[in-house]
Amino acid sequence: MRMTRKRVLVTGGAGFLGSHLCERLLARGHEVLCVDNFLTGQRANVAHLLGDARFELLRHDVTAPLEVEVDEIYNLACPASPVHYQHDPVKTTKTNVHGAINMLDLAQRKGAKILQASTSEVYGDPAVHPQSEEYWGNVNPIGPRSCYDEGKRCAETLFFDYRRQYGLGIKVVRIFNTYGPRMHPQDGRVVSNFIVQALRGEDITIYGEGTQTRSFCYVDDLIEAMLRLMDTGHDVTGPVNIGNPAEFTMLDLAHLVIELTGSAARLVHRPLPEDDPRQRCPDIAKARALLGWQPTVALRDGLARTIGYFDALLSAD
Ligand code: NAD
Ligand code: UDP
Repeated sequence: MRMTRKRVLVTGGAGFLGSHLCERLLARGHEVLCVDNFLTGQRANVAHLLGDARFELLRHDVTAPLEVEVDEIYNLACPASPVHYQHDPVKTTKTNVHGAINMLDLAQRKGAKILQASTSEVYGDPAVHPQSEEYWGNVNPIGPRSCYDEGKRCAETLFFDYRRQYGLGIKVVRIFNTYGPRMHPQDGRVVSNFIVQALRGEDITIYGEGTQTRSFCYVDDLIEAMLRLMDTGHDVTGPVNIGNPAEFTMLDLAHLVIELTGSAARLVHRPLPEDDPRQRCPDIAKARALLGWQPTVALRDGLARTIGYFDALLSAD
């Protein structure tokens, strides 16, 4: 399909999701400006794109204002792993809130469309299951996860206020746990932890009983949905849940990883982190209706691809 070439800004573009998004935007013929402070992202994630004249990489922190010419902005800058976002919680809130304001101001000055990478964490430890966009959530405002959860909630508020106050073209996507190649091997998230542990033959760390659930979406499916949402007209703002509604316990996930890696690793239990949501599963009716989207990659297939990535990465160490 022929597309008009656009100048697209991706904040957090050197991270896991951002690097895949940059790749897909270039493949669509656009110019891409990738902005990142390299807190959790890496130059290596986008090194293969640097030779493309339509790709630019800028070290910049979104908590500071930015002046660039753009047609579209994807705002992904924010550490996503609980280990990382809790390391400097004040900075996490600043990234979410000041970062959103700076990017919204930029969008307003340039007349650009702007998409926010929000999260299923806005539902907190949900009392409603599965979670639809109408549910307002159950979030602890003063706990260890609050810098991220409340930061993302405030960013959503800002997006909708810029829309109401200034008529800005906004899109908000609520991302449920997404995994795939280029997750950081040490970022502490469950899929990367289990795979790395299994490949190294180390104990697989189950937090709590392992009966808590998550729904895992493969990265390619998520990026496709983000692109489709950005392409919608001015009347479509979201929030839209994007995730794979197949729900698994952490014990299910561990057994699947062991099976697919052929590892002899054993399961060990570790304390459940404070405020860890007990269950999470997206209602994706809205994404189906608005975007004609649904996930296409089953967990078993996505895990096999991700295991291939980590196997190559760890063998190269
Ligand atoms: P990631 O940690 O790999 O990527 C985040 C990127 O943002 C990194 O490259 C990091 O260096 C950069 N960054 C952080 N703070 C910054 C700042 N102040 N200025 C500029 N850059 C900054 O995580 P990811 O999984 O790729 O997540 C990307 C976005 O999607 C995040 O906003 C996250 O909250 C959201 N999200 C991800 C998931 C998921 O399961 N992967 C789920 C829900 C929401
Ligand atoms: N988890 C686990 N072992 C690990 C890492 C995480 O059992 O080594 C659990 C964690 O307690 C949570 C789930 O896996 O219940 C998903 O954790 P993750 O950090 O990937 O993302 P979250 O959905 O909690 O933001």
